[in-house]
Amino acid sequence: GKPVCECNTCFGGPDCSEFSPGCPADANSGDPLFLEPFWMQHAASSAILVAGWHRMSYIFSDHSYISQELEKHVRKFHAIARNAVTAGRYIVFGSGSTQLLNAAVYALSQENSSSPARVVASIPYYPFYKIQTDYFRSVDFEFQGDTSSWKNTSDVSENVIEFVTSPNNPDGQLKKAVLQGPSVKTIHDHAYYWPHFTAIPTPADEDLMIFTISKLTGHAGSRFGWALIKNEAVYQRMLVYMSMSEMGVSRDTQLRTLKLLKVVLEGEGREIFDFAFKTMRSRWEKLSQTLSMSKRFSIQNIAPQYCTFFQKVRGPSPAFAWLKCEKEEDKDCSTVLRAANIIGREGSMFTADNHYVRLSLLKSQDDFDLLLHRLNKLVSGEDGVK
Ligand code: PMP
Repeated sequence: GKPVCECNTCFGGPDCSEFSPGCPADANSGDPLFLEPFWMQHAASSAILVAGWHRMSYIFSDHSYISQELEKHVRKFHAIARNAVTAGRYIVFGSGSTQLLNAAVYALSQENSSSPARVVASIPYYPFYKIQTDYFRSVDFEFQGDTSSWKNTSDVSENVIEFVTSPNNPDGQLKKAVLQGPSVKTIHDHAYYWPHFTAIPTPADEDLMIFTISKLTGHAGSRFGWALIKNEAVYQRMLVYMSMSEMGVSRDTQLRTLKLLKVVLEGEGREIFDFAFKTMRSRWEKLSQTLSMSKRFSIQNIAPQYCTFFQKVRGPSPAFAWLKCEKEEDKDCSTVLRAANIIGREGSMFTADNHYVRLSLLKSQDDFDLLLHRLNKLVSGEDGVK
C-alpha cells in the first residue's frame, strides 16, 4: 500500500521502519545527541512544567534579565568541573554561545576605536567566527583571517581581537593565545572545555571565556550560553549588546537550564561526566582502531594528559575526527568519503586544505555505528591493508 508517512533516505517500507542500506553516514553536523540516553535515564527529574501565569515578566525580581539563581548554579558547576575560575568574574548570558561571540567582538572593539579592530583566528578554525563577523559588518571590527600572519609582528600596535578555541573545533587540540601586546584582546571559546572532550589540565583563567550548554548537557536547541568576564567595562558593553539585541535570554530557557544544571549537579556532576567521557572515549578508540589499519586515511594525534577532574592521566575523547586523506591525489577528501556514502565537512570550511575532512562524533549512537561501519568497509577495501 501507500506509505502512511513520508519516508526519508534512511527508512522505507510501508510504515517507514525499514532501514535502507543506501542511507548515508552523515557525520557533518555537531549536533550533540550522544547525550540523549543520559537524559532518558533522568527523564522525570529533568522535566519542567510551567504554569501559564509563571514568569510572564520581562524582568526578574532584581530588575535584571539574568536569573541570580542560575548564575549561582553556573559558578558552582565550574567549581565542581574544575574547568574555569569564576571568582572575580562577571557573567553575561546569551542565546547560545553564538550570540556571545559577536557580543564579545563588539564589546572588545569599542576600546580606542580609531580604526576597526582586526579579528583573527588560527587555522583550522570554526567558520562562524568569520561568517558572523562579516555578516554583522561594522565600522568597529573586521575579520582579517589567520592569526599567524600577525605572529611575527613583535608589537601588534593596532587593535586585534584573537579567537582562541580550546579545545579546538575541528581538531580537538588544547590551544593558547598566539598574540601578545597591549592592543591584543582575546576571546577564549571554551565550548568543548569539559571532561567529556578533553583532559582539563588546569582551570581556565582568561579574561573573557565563553561556554555553552550545547556541548555540555547536549541541549543545543535551548540556545543557552554564558561568558565569564574579568573587565567591568567589557562586561557592561556585553550587557548592553544583550539588551539591545533581544532584552536578554528567554526566561523560559533560563528556567530549563536551571533545571538541567540541578540534575547534573547531583552527585557532584560525576554521572554526566562519566557517561559523556566513556561514550566519547569509546567512540575515539573504535575509530582509531579502524583507521590504524589504513594507509590512505589518518586522524589527528592527541596526547594523553593529566585531568584535574578525573585526577588521572586520560586518553583523548574529542568531539570531532580531523581526518586526512594521505595521498597527494586525494585533494578532495570529502568526495572520496562521499563515494563510500560518508558525509563529512570539508577542510576548506575551516580555512584548511581539502585533504582534510571533519567527522562529527557527537551524534546519536546509531549515527556513529553507521559511520564506523562505512569506514571499516572503506578501509578494508584498500589495497595492501593488513
Ligand atoms: N563555538 C564552537 C567552537 C562551536 O563548535 C559551537 C557549536 N558548534 C559554538 C561555539 C556555538 O554553540 P552554541 O551557539 O550552540 O552555544
